[in-house]
Amino acid sequence: MQKIQMKTPLVEIDGDEMTRVLWQMIKDTLILPFIDLKTEYYDLGLKSRNDTDDQITVDAALATKKHGVAVKCATITPNRQRMDEYPELKQMWKSPNSTIRSILDGTVFRAPITVDCIRPVVKTWDKPITIARHAYGDVYKAADLHTLEPGEAELTFRGESGKTETLSVQKVDGPAVWQAMHNTEASIRSFAKACFQYAVDTKQDLWFSTKDTIAKVYDGQFKAVFEQEFEGCRDKFEALGIKYFYTLIDDAVARAMRSEGGFIWALKNYDGDVMSDMVATAFGSLAMMTSVLVSPDGNYEYEAAHGTVTQHYYRYLEGEETSTNPIATIFAWTGALFKRGELDNLPKLCEFAKSLEDACTDTISSGTMTGDLTRLAETSAAAKSVTSREFLDAVCRRLRDKMSKT
Ligand code: NAP
Ligand code: MG
Repeated sequence: MQKIQMKTPLVEIDGDEMTRVLWQMIKDTLILPFIDLKTEYYDLGLKSRNDTDDQITVDAALATKKHGVAVKCATITPNRQRMDEYPELKQMWKSPNSTIRSILDGTVFRAPITVDCIRPVVKTWDKPITIARHAYGDVYKAADLHTLEPGEAELTFRGESGKTETLSVQKVDGPAVWQAMHNTEASIRSFAKACFQYAVDTKQDLWFSTKDTIAKVYDGQFKAVFEQEFEGCRDKFEALGIKYFYTLIDDAVARAMRSEGGFIWALKNYDGDVMSDMVATAFGSLAMMTSVLVSPDGNYEYEAAHGTVTQHYYRYLEGEETSTNPIATIFAWTGALFKRGELDNLPKLCEFAKSLEDACTDTISSGTMTGDLTRLAETSAAAKSVTSREFLDAVCRRLRDKMSKT
């Protein structure tokens, strides 16, 4: 079989623990035998981040800006406990994902990978629902205050011009809690641009919901910015037959529950935090959820939504062949290869990515899957729990079969 050629390199961002082990297994079993793989490799494993004073993370983000498409393995975000586990760490390095996100200025889209034999909890959901969460500001960057006596709070903005604006928040006659939060118009606009871009890319309707009847100024501005940005892509939406739909958050929740899925749901930071966990769980499992960071100027970084699966890694180190689900990491690769194929006009690369995705879902539908899925699946044949390696081999057999037919 002739290997598929690539033009532009893919930015390959390696990571930690069990997902790093799976990363190599996926490449060896499912990618390298079929593709003359061209990548620019960045090792974001914790040791390499520590050795380079985290410069490697910045370099990986800049490479993504340069080449346009990256695939990333899950990485450890160090906390106190990790500092004890890795005594050589020079400091508690920042989350690589937030460093990359701040350089690319992107929005994260999370979409479940659906398989026939795993039915979502919501019966009507026939197609995936993609959550687009705004990842800047609001309560995540708020100033909080707890006061104990009667009094009044004011909100003051001091402009650089010297102009000030002051507003009374509330007079209280006893102890109270206060919160002031903000967002920037630039960030809201980037979020809107990324959402419209992604809707066009994936040819899906875009929903956006806030509470602008209550937060007339704050949420009203989100709504207005989205409307302005939509004007720039109205023609594209019409040509593709897709819709932009704004509604109140509570109405959107009710409609989403009755919908058949198949749309992108753009949400403010807090709403997205809450709804993405609900949607992920309702579709089955975090191990079946992909995530892509899309920047407003059209750069893409694909990854699995889950972490490094630490517990499985410790068992792997003790010699156990674990049954860790590699699907989301495989779909990060197929997402990136497909996008690369699309941008470089390489239909064979796109076909390969689709065949690999089908080989994965067919393998699960036939009853062969990792342990996390056996309790969710409703297969006619008894679902068989296999190790990651056995699963990848089964996918490879199906993939070879598909590739020999094209
Ligand atoms: P996690 O790695 O997602 O794992 C949590 C649990 O979910 C696992 O113990 C496992 O449950 C199950 N699970 C997740 N992925 C699975 C898979 N592919 N196959 C089978 N089961 C899977 O989250 P975490 O334990 O909170 O975090 C571990 C590390 O990952 C942390 O250092 C964190 O910083 C990092 N992290 C990185 C990213 C990222 O790079 N994007 C995201 C999140 C977390 P059972 O043990 O019950 O089998
Ligand atoms: Mg959450």
